[in-house]
Amino acid sequence: MYDAKKLLKKHFGYDTFRPLQKKVIDHFVSGQDCLVVMPTGGGKSLLFQLPALLRDGTTIVVSPLISLMKDQVDALTANGISATMLNSSIDMQELHNREKKALEGSYKLIYIAPERLGSPHVQKWLAKMKLAALAVDEAHCISQWGHDFRPDYRNLKHFRKNFPEIPIIALTASATKNVQIDIVRELEFSKHKTFISGFYRENLHISVISKTKANQKILNLIQKYCGESVIIYCFSRKETEELSLFLQNKGLKSGVYHAGLLPEERHDVQEKFVRDEIAVVVATVAFGMGIDKPDVRLVIHKTFPKTIEGYYQEIGRAGRDGLDAEVVMLYSAGDKMKLDYFLQQMEDVHRRTSEEKKIQEVMDYASARVCRWQYLTTYFGQTGIEACAQCDVCRSARDMEDATEITQKILSAVIKTGNTFGKGHIVKVLRGSRDKAVLSRDHHKLSVWGIAKEYTTQDLMEYMAQLIAKGFLVRASNEYETYKVGKKGAQFLNEKQKIDLPKMEKEEKIVMHVQEQYDEKLFQILRGLRKKIADDAHVPAFVVFGDVSLRAMARNFPESLDAFARVPGVGTKKL
Ligand code: ADP
Ligand code: MG
Ligand code: ZN
Repeated sequence: MYDAKKLLKKHFGYDTFRPLQKKVIDHFVSGQDCLVVMPTGGGKSLLFQLPALLRDGTTIVVSPLISLMKDQVDALTANGISATMLNSSIDMQELHNREKKALEGSYKLIYIAPERLGSPHVQKWLAKMKLAALAVDEAHCISQWGHDFRPDYRNLKHFRKNFPEIPIIALTASATKNVQIDIVRELEFSKHKTFISGFYRENLHISVISKTKANQKILNLIQKYCGESVIIYCFSRKETEELSLFLQNKGLKSGVYHAGLLPEERHDVQEKFVRDEIAVVVATVAFGMGIDKPDVRLVIHKTFPKTIEGYYQEIGRAGRDGLDAEVVMLYSAGDKMKLDYFLQQMEDVHRRTSEEKKIQEVMDYASARVCRWQYLTTYFGQTGIEACAQCDVCRSARDMEDATEITQKILSAVIKTGNTFGKGHIVKVLRGSRDKAVLSRDHHKLSVWGIAKEYTTQDLMEYMAQLIAKGFLVRASNEYETYKVGKKGAQFLNEKQKIDLPKMEKEEKIVMHVQEQYDEKLFQILRGLRKKIADDAHVPAFVVFGDVSLRAMARNFPESLDAFARVPGVGTKKL
């Protein structure tokens, strides 16, 4: 029997396994196939990297993105593990060279791009090699049902036929039942076991805040993190550029990332982010697939995402190293209009309905006062999480206050204007606006005109959103976003009921977990030193040491080799 824990410390510098890691490794080492579904940051790489050290021969790793391969190979090399990669970024001469060395048994791990596996040359080469195992990273790429189908992954089909004795491990962060079935079938798993870890991530602190003064709020949030890595997701290219400019004017190092940039430009932003040259990337959804940066401390959604799946994936890019990280969604019911416009352009009715449903789910998530983690885990079919301690809802159990009067005013305004207007118009009437739309309809002559002057537009919009969520107001038309008083609303008025609604927030307060103390100044000095070492070695900073290691150094002040060896992330080679 092998001592997995000892190997973990020796080669990777970690003292303990994350949940499920040990079980998967034991199973895989025994020579059986495994399918692993584990959230981003769960520590999937270790599941094939550690077994690779135990087995005779070479483990082949298939991975879809060149940048990911490179980071992993760099990280393994820094830990003293022999690894290399074969993909289109390497010139012919060097490829040849590496293939030759591989046959001599020089590598424990070889990362290969999936398209290469289709070539007969590569198949012949593999047959000559002593193989230990095959690892298929991002295994959902094999399935048409997945959100990122890659035809090249179909090349993996032949692997089992050609090498029936070699165990296979498939890893993914997101796989529905259908995708799991596809993976098992395509890879022709024989006896295998599926390991699914939960979707709950206890180091992610979630909040949803209102979108008023969005830029200022974003700035405040970023400044809390003193130059550490931040990703901000926006709706459009234009929005990313404007926000990035705003942040640059405030003296922050930020860059943009969207589909309108040239591939080189995108690569450049990604590279600078990974190398800690820019701290903030303002991006459209496209950003993040190609990076495994472990120390992203903050992810902000300036506009709410189009699906819960996408949202989960994007927030998952925060805190992969397991340290506290914050994810904040800025929410305004008005944002839905932007998306509605998008939906209206869609010709395929079937698709439009399905996208509308997805957006509604995100709206529900944002406006419901239930634990965010409960909502997310339930959404993905996991039960048992009912309250966390690190989402805004659980943290504050937002104070409720009597909202009977304002509710009466809003409902009256909806009725008096004829049950046929959108939220914006109702709010104008309530606030006593002299807007053309109001005057031309003589709505300034109604008794409800100006009866809620003391409220801000934003607050009134929020109140209306709450009333919609409660079913007091319902859609008046399928075509337009107009509202009428629903059954529950009518009952409320007729029976003179009372109602409590969440207090409108004034300032957002986010209380982080009390983390173990460390010397912040020393941490910053170490970050600077890490960057220098990384630049000299042409690797990303986290390859040198992760934040977990730097914080431990800034907490324990190791002064001897023994003490330094106890720092997490310090294995034999780095020591
Ligand atoms: P995934 O592929 O599941 O998204 P990674 O393999 O990239 O996750 O690992 C995420 C981070 O967790 C990495 O920084 C990795 O070094 C770290 N990590 C993995 N296993 C452990 C462990 N047992 N203890 C501490 N850190 C770990
Ligand atoms: Mg991974
Ligand atoms: Zn919660």
